[in-house]
Amino acid sequence: MTKKGVAMISGGLDSTLAAKILLEQGVELCGLYLSAPWGCCDKTKAMKVAAQLGIEFMVVKMTQEYIGVIRNPKYGYGSSMNPCIDCRIYMFKKAKDLMAEIGASFLVTGEVLGQRPMSQMRHSLLLIERQAGLDRLVVRPLSAKVLPPTLPEEQGLIDRQRLYGITGRSRKEQMELAVRYGILEYPNPAGGCLLTDREFGNRVRDLFESQEEVDLEEMELLQLGRHFRANPLTKLIVGRNEEENATLAEYLAPGRLFFVPDRFPGPVVLLIGPPDEETRRLALRLILHYTKKQKLPPEPKVICRVGVPRGEGQRPMEEVLALDEGIEATQLEAMRI
Ligand code: SF4
Repeated sequence: MTKKGVAMISGGLDSTLAAKILLEQGVELCGLYLSAPWGCCDKTKAMKVAAQLGIEFMVVKMTQEYIGVIRNPKYGYGSSMNPCIDCRIYMFKKAKDLMAEIGASFLVTGEVLGQRPMSQMRHSLLLIERQAGLDRLVVRPLSAKVLPPTLPEEQGLIDRQRLYGITGRSRKEQMELAVRYGILEYPNPAGGCLLTDREFGNRVRDLFESQEEVDLEEMELLQLGRHFRANPLTKLIVGRNEEENATLAEYLAPGRLFFVPDRFPGPVVLLIGPPDEETRRLALRLILHYTKKQKLPPEPKVICRVGVPRGEGQRPMEEVLALDEGIEATQLEAMRI
């Protein structure tokens, strides 16, 4: 066993402290950031933390396999579509792969016993490490003293006496430790994983119920715009601001239509699924609904682009359509995901 570990770094205070506590003991660490198809934790912050700690930093992307984990969790969901136990097992397995690659002997996390209801209760913490094949190899410096000793502690690579016994949801002790370790800048806890968010969870559920196969790009799209389910096969996404309008444009592909206001400021609509007359009309009505009336020209028009395969130098076919029919807010709400 080596005195080298992989430290999961989210950019938050707990994982920063966990790494710092072990670095003070002369442990060599490599930071690991697991990147989800949607922005969960902040990669830039995680990268900055690793630089401040002076450790190597690796980013591992969640793959298609991760969608399978979210879709069929063995241990069920938390309050929304967050399969925390299965998700942690998946993450730990990824960390284990990295450990093997770089010759690290253990994993380090900022987990705190009892901080989260699903994945950070005693039995869950131990179950997760066992299921990931990391039994007694996960060091949790913030709560180590209230958990069974790990192998690196037993073998004297890590001094258990210099670890902590923090439990629960209060952040008080972590904030005191931050002062002690000279960590002056750290983000507020909160926010975090989109899978715990009710609205995002509804979109995930809708996608799983509508499609047998779901890819990473479709999961990425769930964080953008307003979503409307027109029928079991067709969904429309409306941009909420200029940035989202520009991002949605990048998702035009075969099997999709993209509607852009013609020379007036308003939202774009990405239509995903087989378009028919009704769904095309719905796209126009959505644009009219979300455009400020005073910004509309006398005879507003919308350009409809048809997706073509990417990277083949083909330009999408375009059609100009008149915008003349609104939609009732109640009708919209009924379709909103
Ligand atoms: S909160 Fe999200 S990222 Fe964290 S374990 Fe749960 S599902 Fe995974």
